[in-house]
Amino acid sequence: MSATVPVSVRVSLLTVGACRERAWLADGSRTFAYRTFPALVVRLLHPRLGVILFDTGYGAALSAATSPAARIYRRVLPFNLAPEQEIDRQLGADDAKPAAVLLSHFHPDHIGGLRALPGVPIICSGDGLARLRSLGPIGRLRNAFLPELLPEDFDARASAIEDRPPVELGAEWSPFTEARDLLGDGSLLAVALPGHALGQYGLICRLAGGRDLFLVADAAWLRSNFADLALPAWPARRLLGDPRALIATLRRLHALAARRPDLLIVPSHCAEPQRAFTAGRHGD
Ligand SMILES: [Zn+2]
Repeated sequence: MSATVPVSVRVSLLTVGACRERAWLADGSRTFAYRTFPALVVRLLHPRLGVILFDTGYGAALSAATSPAARIYRRVLPFNLAPEQEIDRQLGADDAKPAAVLLSHFHPDHIGGLRALPGVPIICSGDGLARLRSLGPIGRLRNAFLPELLPEDFDARASAIEDRPPVELGAEWSPFTEARDLLGDGSLLAVALPGHALGQYGLICRLAGGRDLFLVADAAWLRSNFADLALPAWPARRLLGDPRALIATLRRLHALAARRPDLLIVPSHCAEPQRAFTAGRHGD
């Protein structure tokens, strides 16, 4: 990491649609009550580059997609997305064209808004995308990969996280040991979080004042997945790409959270840490 003055980012959290599903699926809890799972988009303000987005949430393209796979996805995981919630509507006039959008992984609730961000450079897992594209129709459906959500010029705009310089993480991030320095200044570090989906990365953000924030995408659906090791119920685990890797990643997050109770770890669909973000004034 850079030996000069650390570069920090300012962060704000946006909700771009939500789905409702039984809590039991997400954490194996004994209640069969429904719970709302907001779709998180993180707006990162970098001092040199301007606005960088972490994911895009749901989008009109997902609502309108007509492929059989898209219809199945919407039936299994129905979602709500008010027009004013769409990512392009939520960005202010100054943000109309972000400097980049970083994709944590390729599930529809994370890439659904890509088509609403024309021309914006994309940073994503090249390895994960190559593996998804190598799958047949059944494999794509099983991995909830809907290629029609990717803009036609996706490849021309995309660059691979794996091509960014690797950095060793300090002991404070153990048991995570390595990351990719996305901007070359230590402000945004992508950390591989295997298990939930092919090519999933989380993001360590250096905030002003020396605090860190760890966005873990869908490595956990709920905070209880890693805080209490309350695992998703078996249907959800079976649907996932690699349940063994998912549990290993959760155990690593559990160890990190136990050692650093002050570190805010934010999954993409859990409202609780997002409220803690606001209460702790992490966006200041
Ligand atoms: Zn996902």
